[in-house]
Amino acid sequence: MLTEGVFIALGSNVGDREQNARHAIAMLGDEPEISIIQQSKMIETQPVGPIEQGLFINVVIEITTTLSPSALLAICLVIEEKLGRVRAERWGPRTIDLDIILFGSKVLKEPHLTIPHPELLKRSFVLCPLLGIAPDVVHPVFRQQISDLSKDQA
Ligand code: ATP
Ligand code: CA
Ligand code: CA
Repeated sequence: MLTEGVFIALGSNVGDREQNARHAIAMLGDEPEISIIQQSKMIETQPVGPIEQGLFINVVIEITTTLSPSALLAICLVIEEKLGRVRAERWGPRTIDLDIILFGSKVLKEPHLTIPHPELLKRSFVLCPLLGIAPDVVHPVFRQQISDLSKDQA
């Protein structure tokens, strides 16, 4: 089954950050079961959380896919690994991070996969690029458009 309105947030703050993001997007696009629909601007953002680390490049892409959410997550984790991500500490520096933020209207709470991403509405580094490409997309839990929900966060 084809799912539309699937969004992935990418972040990098190690190495050539823009190139890491471009590579990850190209690798997603190379997957036969994934089509890239659109890509936001790349933005540079301050790290959040307790760890002192370099600035991030963040970008959000929209895809369609015939994969299940867990199969898509598995591909994301393989791409992170191929691009050299080392999981040293939670929320620490990373070559590339791929988070599934929305998967159409799907709502999932599994041990290894929560969709929509639980931090989506708290993170301007995800909301801003998402707003730029899909202001009308509806959050399946709050049943409101991202453009309305992001006003509440301001
Ligand atoms: P955060 O999830 O707060 O952004 P993080 O991206 O740094 O933190 P990771 O170390 O990249 O966390 O991922 C840890 C695990 O989170 C992954 O192995 C995956 O099983 C799980 N996970 C749960 N929901 C999602 C999701 N929507 N997208 C990606 N990974 C998810
Ligand atoms: Ca993340
Ligand atoms: Ca992640």
